[in-house]
Amino acid sequence: PLPVVAVVGRPNVGKSTLVNRILGRREAVVEDVPGVTRDRVAYDAEWAGRAFTLLDTGGWDPEGQGMAARITAQAEIAVVAADVVIFVVDVTVGATDADEAVVRVLRRAGKPVVLAANKVDGPTTEADAAALWNLGLGEPHPVSALHGRGSGDMLDAVLAAL
Ligand code: GDP
Ligand code: MG
Repeated sequence: PLPVVAVVGRPNVGKSTLVNRILGRREAVVEDVPGVTRDRVAYDAEWAGRAFTLLDTGGWDPEGQGMAARITAQAEIAVVAADVVIFVVDVTVGATDADEAVVRVLRRAGKPVVLAANKVDGPTTEADAAALWNLGLGEPHPVSALHGRGSGDMLDAVLAAL
């Protein structure tokens, strides 16, 4: 079986966009209206000659009741299956209570975590990425899933943790 890399985070941070960026094709469903991704979707992926299973997560209604609980529940399930977790945070929003709740799940699980500071589309958001050191998960990797920036360095960190 291939190693499993799970992409977790709250709705709309860009998880599916990042999955498509890693796959080099548009397979994961990206929506401006969050909540479209089915619960968990596995893809065959490869980086630097190493194959792994890439797990996209999501699929809840962020306006629905118990949203925070569902985010953490999704993260718990994904993390159990994962060898490495990519935790995606939206730097244009910053770390929210829901993000902090996911961080607690990740800490408990004890799996290696690579922190993707997403939506760093230009120089003005770089400081916002650095602010995510405060989450206590180590180096925030600035990426723009939309434009492709930084995803290679982030994937190098993922492979180093595998
Ligand atoms: P998910 O709910 O976490 O899977 O998020 P999606 O991948 O569906 O993306 C949610 C929204 O964020 C979409 O409108 C994306 O186009 C947008 N988005 C994703 N990545 C980036 C990025 O790097 N920069 C910007 N500006 N928008 C992004
Ligand atoms: Mg999604």
